[in-house]
Amino acid sequence: MKDKQQLEQLLRSFYLSGFVQHYDDFAKRAEKEKLGCLKYLHQLAQAESDLRHNRRIERLLLQAKLPRGKTLDGFDLSEQPSLSLVHLRELAEGDCLDHCENILIFGIPGTGKTHLSTALGRAWCLHGRRVLYTTAATLVQDLLTAKRDLLLNQFIKKLDRYEALIIDDISYIPHSRDETDVLFVLLAERYEKRSVVVTSNLAFSGWESIFKDPMTTRAAIDRLIHHSTILELNGTDEESYRQKEATRRKRSRHHNDPPELTKH
Ligand code: ADP
Ligand code: MG
Repeated sequence: MKDKQQLEQLLRSFYLSGFVQHYDDFAKRAEKEKLGCLKYLHQLAQAESDLRHNRRIERLLLQAKLPRGKTLDGFDLSEQPSLSLVHLRELAEGDCLDHCENILIFGIPGTGKTHLSTALGRAWCLHGRRVLYTTAATLVQDLLTAKRDLLLNQFIKKLDRYEALIIDDISYIPHSRDETDVLFVLLAERYEKRSVVVTSNLAFSGWESIFKDPMTTRAAIDRLIHHSTILELNGTDEESYRQKEATRRKRSRHHNDPPELTKH
């Protein structure tokens, strides 16, 4: 008993919690199956490695602050005939992050921009990539706070840690020049250094309302599209996915309604 306690203490001091969890079970099994020391050690090391991998993914998912429950498997491609599954799977692999490519997702409200950007972010986390999801409105406020505290550079450097920064709803319109400026500084800083995923209800032709003057607008668009993939979510018709879901729900409710009682 004392031996076990000392062993566990040692393993813990080396941060080998996978060993602590499994050494006893595995030893019993190894003895029963006559596996030998090497095989036993190998299995333990593998369990430790799996545990660390899973913990890392959990940490990455937590840090990414992604909206919950949106996956690529849950994205109905029949609603978006312009997208190809092969292409989406390729993007989800994450090689685009190695090349600092951007992904720009356009579409009217309710066509799945947040869903798709989140699903890609999730897939990248599962591949061990560092991702951060934020809305443009929150990001601009965070950038402004950092600027006010003379910490803008540090804040942007902190964001550099993330291989993909998802900026949802860039078409939210900043109110002041200051807001536009910090957003532009961030995009310029990440250019060819780190990937950005941007979603927008507005086509490029409407972006002057975001960046205020034609020069800044052009400079921002130029940097974003230089190495980029553009995904247009226009759907099969004018109805958004939310509206279709509501119609489907209504229909199935009617379908399940008890038959109306007729008065006699
Ligand atoms: P947007 O960001 O374009 O306004 P969302 O991504 O918020 O749209 O989508 C609205 C709702 O419809 C969400 O619940 C989303 O999961 C769902 N949705 C949209 N498009 C699809 C799709 N192609 N497949 C599955 N769910 C979808
Ligand atoms: Mg959205």
